[in-house]
Amino acid sequence: MADLVPFDDRDGWIWFNGEFVPWREAKIHVLTHALHYGSCVFEGERCYNGKIFKSREHSQRLIDSARMLGFEVPYTVEELDAAKAATVAKMGFKDCYVRPLAWRGSEQMGVSAQRARIHVAIACWEWGAYYRDLKLTRAIYDRPAPNTAPVHAKAAGLYMICTLSKHAAEAKGFGDALMLDYRGYVAETTGANIFLVIDGALHTPLPDCFLNGITRQTVIAMAKERGIPVFERHILPEELRSAQEVFVTGTAAEITPVHAIDDLVYQTGPITRLLMDDFHRLTRG
Ligand code: PMP
Repeated sequence: MADLVPFDDRDGWIWFNGEFVPWREAKIHVLTHALHYGSCVFEGERCYNGKIFKSREHSQRLIDSARMLGFEVPYTVEELDAAKAATVAKMGFKDCYVRPLAWRGSEQMGVSAQRARIHVAIACWEWGAYYRDLKLTRAIYDRPAPNTAPVHAKAAGLYMICTLSKHAAEAKGFGDALMLDYRGYVAETTGANIFLVIDGALHTPLPDCFLNGITRQTVIAMAKERGIPVFERHILPEELRSAQEVFVTGTAAEITPVHAIDDLVYQTGPITRLLMDDFHRLTRG
């Protein structure tokens, strides 16, 4: 499996502060602010048949996430788009995952790092399906309140509770964790948004304390085009019982049917299949 090849020991090129460096040489010092204090934002994108899906939206989100962490990415959306396309081309991939990131460097150590240089890197690699036969269990951590963290940023630090929750789920034999929010409403998994199908309509949590995924927004638009009613609202965990279908959405996950949430069991249903087909056509068609 490609994932067993360590990520720091591969062939290829990584775009690093405006130039390509050999993959194994794309290194940072241990005294890097981002490593100690979580001052890093990133993106996850997929390239289909040589074209990065929603590249501009992802570049803009990287810039917006950085601003939520109080720093400016030193490149424009257009420059990031060009750099990502050049990285994919240099690697010779048609279909791959693209990972841009921006972080505070080593000029200052300590909580304050106003003068630390902002670095940007872009790597890409081939990455197949993110989930297989997805079963979820209740997460051990909740999504935090908007006044306790920059919850709308795709910020590295926010993934601490995701890794812990996912590891705990995996230890119990589940594929991922279903996180509730600080109020007890259904939020998302550790790396994807969630949708329920109830009596022919889509119901999905309001993204008021977590990432409003680009795939989530795409799926909502696709459903509306199909005439499927969409309700963005607060959803209680008890309502999971009323769903006939459940699926998750994300760049890595694409649209993945959920087959169980703890003791609740779901089949892949007709609305999930329809949206999966539409999404396939949109990205690969
Ligand atoms: N929530 C979290 C926590 C994620 O990591 C992701 C993946 N970026 C998503 C939702 C889905 O976002 P998107 O569709 O933009 O990839």
